[in-house]
Amino acid sequence: VSKQRLLVVANRLPVSAIRLGEDSWQLDISIGGLVSALLGIKQYETIWIGWAGVSVHDDIGQRTLTTALADKRCIPVFLDEEIVQQYYNGYCNNILWPLFHYLGSPQEDRLATTRTFQSQFDAYKEANKMFANVERNKKMKVGWFLHTPFPSSEIHRTLPSRSELLKSVLTADLVGFHTYDYARHFVSACTRILGLEGTPEGVEDEQGKLTRVAAFPIGIDSNRFIQALELPQVQDHMKELVARFGGRKLMLGVDRLDMIKGIPQKILAFEKFLEENPKWRDKVVLVQIAVPTRTDVPEYQKLTSQVHEIVGRINGKYGTFTAVPIHHLDRSLDFHELCALYAVTDVALVTSLRDGMNLVSYEFVACQASKKGVLILSEFAGAAQSLGSGAILVNPWNVTEVASSIGKALDMPAEEREKRHHQNFTHVTTHTSKEWAATFISELNDTIVEAHLRT
Ligand code: UDP
Repeated sequence: VSKQRLLVVANRLPVSAIRLGEDSWQLDISIGGLVSALLGIKQYETIWIGWAGVSVHDDIGQRTLTTALADKRCIPVFLDEEIVQQYYNGYCNNILWPLFHYLGSPQEDRLATTRTFQSQFDAYKEANKMFANVERNKKMKVGWFLHTPFPSSEIHRTLPSRSELLKSVLTADLVGFHTYDYARHFVSACTRILGLEGTPEGVEDEQGKLTRVAAFPIGIDSNRFIQALELPQVQDHMKELVARFGGRKLMLGVDRLDMIKGIPQKILAFEKFLEENPKWRDKVVLVQIAVPTRTDVPEYQKLTSQVHEIVGRINGKYGTFTAVPIHHLDRSLDFHELCALYAVTDVALVTSLRDGMNLVSYEFVACQASKKGVLILSEFAGAAQSLGSGAILVNPWNVTEVASSIGKALDMPAEEREKRHHQNFTHVTTHTSKEWAATFISELNDTIVEAHLRT
């Protein structure tokens, strides 16, 4: 019996291709949480459809890359530079990303996108068609999942393409979001903007066809982190870190350097904490890993210099000849370094202004089985819905509140730390990425069965 097929369609394939010669390719596989989650679904034959990160204009190139990727169960979609620029950098990153994260872009930027909006949206539709054309099959069951927040309908309705976008998503059988709030916002947008019927199950169109809408909070492959801590190279990294920072409490931030992560807000709150608590000044250090992202975009360059300026000012004010309060790194770490850092941290600080989920908070918890440190978590991260009782929740815009939470976290009695850690750890190790994938796919199957029962 041949297995049923599971087609995973995402912008990027889990493989990056680099061209070595006319017909030869180097393929670099990235095993992220989503990839390992879907690999865990063994009852299907899983095939990935997406962009391989390169422009390939010639026939030989397209043919040989397609063949090379077939070995990895990947089907490439060939997008050229122009369409990537308009669809991905333009419509997705410049229009949807800030809007869906409630970032008010400066008036002039918003005006500029108003004028170029239509061409970017056209490119978005064209790119989507190219993905859809890989496989067209009326009997196919379609599940659609959004990894970002879905904003209030009051925000969504300012989008010129508001209706078209909603109607397209509703052609899916199942629509999933990280949190119940995002799902609710989506249903409201459909009722208010399209005038459709919202039910507890989802959205009904004029013909009475139901699109099921539900929340599926993603998780991580927690075992991968827990097992990594046993590796000799991770243990070595941990020893180095302890030798370096051992005398002081270690606070940690790990974020892409994106406006949504609230990095300036975090650092200002840390400054306020140092200002108000002189006794802590030489006893605590904040390590901020700021992974570069979209570095060619002026807004992101501005954020980088803004953060550098604040860090420089604070280190100038509270540093000594031998120590500075903030270690700011503009780079990514490899997996083993990251695990070691998570494991030796006393307090993790996540201050996202909006964040679909925030997996860093989950990864930190997974690595804290022996240390049982404290997680300070923004209430605007999707993760706040699941780690809310174990973490200290904060409004990242309120620096007074964040500063006092830092104090509370650093002074927290062991008993309370252990209790909170236990709650978080139980959640993170039971709500894994594997479980997410299995639930989403089984719900998709149920949706179809129920639709047949209704008709
Ligand atoms: N990460 C990484 N290298 C680093 C820092 C972070 O690979 O140096 C990973 C981290 O392990 C996590 C991801 O980047 O899995 C960030 O995911 P999250 O959901 O927190 O935020 P996003 O970047 O998707 O907005």
